Amino acid sequence: MKLLLLFSILLISLIPTTSFAEKSCTYTTYKWNTVQRKAVDFKTVQHPYSALQGREIDKQTGCTVCQEDQIEITITGLKPVKMCKILAEDLQHLLLEQVESYQNQIQTVNRNQAPLVPILKLVGYRVGMTKGTIDQQGNRTEFSNHSFGIALDINDEQNGLYDQCITFGSHCRLIKGGKWHPRQSGSITAESDIVHFMKQLGFKWGGEIKGKQKDFMHFSPTGY
Ligand SMILES: [Zn+2]
Repeated sequence: MKLLLLFSILLISLIPTTSFAEKSCTYTTYKWNTVQRKAVDFKTVQHPYSALQGREIDKQTGCTVCQEDQIEITITGLKPVKMCKILAEDLQHLLLEQVESYQNQIQTVNRNQAPLVPILKLVGYRVGMTKGTIDQQGNRTEFSNHSFGIALDINDEQNGLYDQCITFGSHCRLIKGGKWHPRQSGSITAESDIVHFMKQLGFKWGGEIKGKQKDFMHFSPTGY
């Protein structure tokens, strides 16, 4: 009996399970409804990785909506965020350096450089259809850059998203996050170190994008 058990264990362990188990893609998503102005149709999607559709992959980076392709970034004192695996390590490094520089800065009385931005809050990977054309129900039909883990929001409470804002001024309408002010601690400006270093990693800043919106918290490969 013992021998039979041993034999069975040996047999099971010899079955090459990994080659049979296909990698799967999992994510939870929603649609932004432009009529109700809220997120609707929450659902969890799971399918084989080989069945990924074009809209589930970012063409520029190859990053996907799959949570299996995201890596967590941890900064002490902040809620961890996930970002696409090809960007996560560089981002973690950059953010840690920014935190350290900021701490050094506040200990130094004489500093003539532009003030550094404290990192207070991050939002990364978050799957949702918040852009593209609108369907008959008023829902957006394309995944945002956050959906692929290629967009990062920094300090949303000091760096809001504004509409009706070709150039920034009092006419701009705040639609998400808190008010932006160039001389406020936590607000990001074109002169901020973080903008400079994010650009070196291939990101564009949402505070500098063309069009009606200015998204001061937002960084992504396109800025949108
Ligand atoms: Zn964003």
